[in-house]
Amino acid sequence: MDTIREPARDLPVIEDVDVVIAGGGPGGFPAAVAAARRGCKVLLVERYGILGGLASGGMMGPLFGYAYRKTDMILGGIPVEILEELKKLGGVREDYIKQKGAIQFFPEMVKHVADRLVLASGAQLLLHAWVTDVIRTGDRIDAVVIESKSGRQAVRAKLFIDATGDGDLAYWLGCDYTKGRPADGKTQPLGTKFRIGGVDMAKAHEHNQESNALVAKAIDEGRIPAYHTFAGEVSDQGITLRPDESTPTVTRCAGDATNVYDLTRAETSIRRDTLAIVDFYREHVPGYENCYLMETPFAVGVRETRQILGEYVLTGEDVLNSARFGDTVARGCWFLDIHCPLGRYNGRSNLCDKRCQIEPPCNMKRQHADQLYDNMFGFARNDENMWYDIPYRCFVPNKSANLLVSGRCISANHGGMSSVRVIATCFAMGEAVGAAAAQCIKTGVAPRNVNVPALQQDLRAAGVPL
Ligand SMILES: Cc1cc2nc3c(=O)[nH]c(=O)nc-3n(C[C@H](O)[C@H](O)[C@H](O)COP(=O)(O)OP(=O)(O)OC[C@H]3O[C@@H](n4cnc5c(N)ncnc54)[C@H](O)[C@@H]3O)c2cc1C
Repeated sequence: MDTIREPARDLPVIEDVDVVIAGGGPGGFPAAVAAARRGCKVLLVERYGILGGLASGGMMGPLFGYAYRKTDMILGGIPVEILEELKKLGGVREDYIKQKGAIQFFPEMVKHVADRLVLASGAQLLLHAWVTDVIRTGDRIDAVVIESKSGRQAVRAKLFIDATGDGDLAYWLGCDYTKGRPADGKTQPLGTKFRIGGVDMAKAHEHNQESNALVAKAIDEGRIPAYHTFAGEVSDQGITLRPDESTPTVTRCAGDATNVYDLTRAETSIRRDTLAIVDFYREHVPGYENCYLMETPFAVGVRETRQILGEYVLTGEDVLNSARFGDTVARGCWFLDIHCPLGRYNGRSNLCDKRCQIEPPCNMKRQHADQLYDNMFGFARNDENMWYDIPYRCFVPNKSANLLVSGRCISANHGGMSSVRVIATCFAMGEAVGAAAAQCIKTGVAPRNVNVPALQQDLRAAGVPL
């Protein structure tokens, strides 16, 4: 490939803080709040103009990971504070607690709640700023380079948290990582949600069965570019709290979301497919005769890219076995949610395409398919065991002296990440990592030498059930 030499230049150091957090999504902004509340000087850097990542501008939801079916809430602390703040703004139902496994919310309100929590914590915020590189001495990050309308600048810190979803900082530092399923490295497909208004939901629901059959047939025949049906899907299966809206997750594009060409292709093909899907529903599906496309998200949704290797790799077996760890600092509670990397459709389900014979299997769904199907989503076991621990070791990348990771890019395999990636679990991981960062700053220890019992005690005191 042709190359060009970038001239060396001096960068202005615009901030010098204790902790920099790159990425203001579900794994990032709670980390900023947790570290700032513990007295650290914190800077949260986000590439877009809003906080919340896929949970706000990305329009993803409902909020998974708070509880599973009949279990009580398995999270406390900041994740529950977020729900309470959303409630004050009408962003969740008053009785959200009853929804447990899938809490509907207005993504718009997540932006406001995140702003409020971050600013009230005393953390500084820098929006419209991309973190584009790290400046290092050995395995220590001295500063990150940011790019914005103000130009190319640097920010110094004692400790960094990579909450970019893609593990950008860890990657630039040279930490080891894996990507995708073991057989061929292919990742889960990119996708979006979108909002359709003007739906006569009562009518759609009345014709649900026949409409679903009609749409499924059209998908099989290649007449509609969707992988899932949502004909009579009442709003409680989507994000919206409004009765005449539908917010389906039915678009897909296979690709590597760390490749700018794949990202570009995904954006345009999914937008094209979205219009075709809405047109099909308007023409063929009872209840959708007057529907219209209201909104698509600010950017295509990324399910899976780099998993940064730490001292422990959370596995799909850990999820299925409700694993317990002595160094737990957060809890997860979701099934192995692996969308076929090839973007295949499998009846009405997003689960692994049973026809796919790839070896080794990219997930355990094939092995556990019947169990999963019997239970719709998840574990065929008693309710008390429906959550698993996430060990602190998953947040400490190897080959790094002052870096922690949070959110979907933590140390996990293809199966493990498919569960921890959901929004509420990312909130919980963010709080744990922010508290760990604060201990590092206060005591001067490196992330890998954190006193885990003290961290657990600290988190429990903040209302986190462990
Ligand atoms: C199609 C789809 C449907 C989903 N549906 C659901 C669902 O129904 N329920 C659920 O709970 N979860 C769902 N998820 C999963 C969930 O939305 C994500 O896994 C979760 O948001 C991950 O949080 P995160 O903070 O790790 O990453 P993100 O939400 O991606 O946030 C990362 C943040 O970092 C910023 N950033 C990235 N790189 C940089 C950089 N270099 N410099 C500065 N900022 C940067 C981004 O702009 C973003 O704000 C879905 C995901 C997808 C893709």
